[in-house]
Amino acid sequence: MKCPACQEPLIVIEREGIEVDWCAACGGIWFDAGELELLAEAAGRDFVLAFRQTSPGRAGASRPRRCPRCAKRLEPRALAQEPPTELDLCPRGHGIWLDRGELGATLRGMQTAAGAPDAGCVAEFLGETFDAPVKRQPSPDPKARRETGNGKR
Ligand SMILES: [Zn+2]
Ligand SMILES: [Zn+2]
Repeated sequence: MKCPACQEPLIVIEREGIEVDWCAACGGIWFDAGELELLAEAAGRDFVLAFRQTSPGRAGASRPRRCPRCAKRLEPRALAQEPPTELDLCPRGHGIWLDRGELGATLRGMQTAAGAPDAGCVAEFLGETFDAPVKRQPSPDPKARRETGNGKR
């Protein structure tokens, strides 16, 4: 499957029994139908996706995004929460695409389920699974390198 946003091949990641397709290039995540609900449950959230009536469409999206399963154009839908998070849904119900950072915002927009464990596991899940591999090595500071290279002054 290819990333709807940048066309790179998606990587299958499994954590806590939930399988998602993740893009190493842009950090976006594809959830097949039902997977996002499983993750919300694992994170101790009451799964609710409430959308606004209209969505302005993604700012700066240069080309239509397509479902990695059926290649139908994904429908941008804005969640009814502040700040609004925009997700891309397959019109045939194959799943949901979330850009990097939108998963955290989406989960934070859901109520913590009664008696659920502390939602710290959300951060853990996000951090370990989706954030860590994307972090790039900080590029060497050219100023620092020059200083070491020049030696004494
Ligand atoms: Zn991508
Ligand atoms: Zn589809």
